[in-house]
Amino acid sequence: MLNYTDSQINHFQNTDFESTDFQSNDCQNLSDQDFDRIHLWHPYTSMLKPLSTLKVKSAQGVYLHLDSGEHLIDGMSSWWCMIHGYNHPLLNQAMIEQIQQMSHVMFGGLTHQPAIDLGRALLKTLPSHLQKIFYADSGSVAVEVALKMAVQYWSAQNQSQKNNIITTRSGYHGDTWNAMSVCDPTTGMHHIFGDNLPKRIFVPAPQSRFDAKYIASDTAELEQVLAQQHQHIAAMIIEPIVQGAGGMRIYHPEYLHQVEKLCKKYNILLILDEIATGFGRTGKMFACEHADVQADIMCLGKALTGGYMTLSATVTTTHVAEMISQGQAGVFMHGPTFMANPLACALARQSIEVLLASDWQNQVQNIEKNLSDYLKPLQDLAQVADVRVLGAIGVVEMQQAVDMQKIQALCLQYGIWIRPFGRLVYVMPPLVINQQELEKLLSGVQEVVKFFV
Ligand SMILES: *Cc1c(COP(=O)(O)O)cnc(C)c1O
Repeated sequence: MLNYTDSQINHFQNTDFESTDFQSNDCQNLSDQDFDRIHLWHPYTSMLKPLSTLKVKSAQGVYLHLDSGEHLIDGMSSWWCMIHGYNHPLLNQAMIEQIQQMSHVMFGGLTHQPAIDLGRALLKTLPSHLQKIFYADSGSVAVEVALKMAVQYWSAQNQSQKNNIITTRSGYHGDTWNAMSVCDPTTGMHHIFGDNLPKRIFVPAPQSRFDAKYIASDTAELEQVLAQQHQHIAAMIIEPIVQGAGGMRIYHPEYLHQVEKLCKKYNILLILDEIATGFGRTGKMFACEHADVQADIMCLGKALTGGYMTLSATVTTTHVAEMISQGQAGVFMHGPTFMANPLACALARQSIEVLLASDWQNQVQNIEKNLSDYLKPLQDLAQVADVRVLGAIGVVEMQQAVDMQKIQALCLQYGIWIRPFGRLVYVMPPLVINQQELEKLLSGVQEVVKFFV
């Protein structure tokens, strides 16, 4: 899910492996480690010079238990997902009970209790104007669905020329073709994919920091472009408040507020991608609540199931849903095979209940305080360019890209798991992490940052 630039990738490729062209029978004699390296592709990884991997045997609470015997505190929540920690008894139970009923059934013409109960749970937590729920399989697909909804919405009003998408630079919205088209063109390396990657309209990323004064000129170019091109734009897509994998930038709520105003003024839909930020991560249930902004379409994923399985949802207003349904197709043109998978729905509903029953606001506040206490002082180090904290997200931006192989060794040394990319060393621990675990994680992060003088 992460984007690297060429130089960052080169930086990672510091382990020299020989090219290996094994035939299928040879592979059975390989050690697990060699099999993994030679046959299994990892995210954003070279098959010639893969980064070495740590083998996880099991996980419990905030801990990853490695095959080699080490126990690492997971500072990544398995990429934003694992908010309640691993192996949670209630989440496990929800899955076991559902498996015994049915793991899957098609959603065309059929429905089931887990889908309905998850829908009810979602409507309890979502901003109240969002009433229509489309379940899909992953975050990227939720983004595809949102973009298609926006285009069908205008097509239904005989405005099919309103079919392009506008977004900011430094965004990240997933890895499928259309989702990728709205990711930052530089870190997403759009040039590699050529002319048939849809050409989206990009405006500068907001410069106003969350913790500083709003810079009124932040939306100047957006307004200019919208004034000129709104007849060709269906929607603006943006990650509310936190731009995640595109740069871990945390921007001012007023920017989002201004974006909402401009979308209304120029008659385009606002799509908020809450896939990383949803379910408490930023200190609000959804990051858009920092700005009191209303999306026309919102994408959910990652922590939706507490991180145990893949599931996403694209939610929208009654107005958008009904407009789409009045169009030429008469239906919304999407229906994944595993739509509303009962196992994933049962799990997601349980995850939301666990979240709502917990004291998550205080937990996140406490994580935020610790992140500030431990990470903000690092700002004074020469190798550190910037430190940013919001909710249960802490980012140390280094002056230079860090060496991933060294990071892994340091993680083992300090008993923590972090996975920086490029110049960004960051953590987003499970919301259930306790004080002692937090201190261990963050003093480890301090040591890692200090190592790269
Ligand atoms: C991770 C992410 C996605 C993509 O989700 P996948 O489940 O990896 O397809 C989309 N948008 C944002 C903001 C994300 O963080």
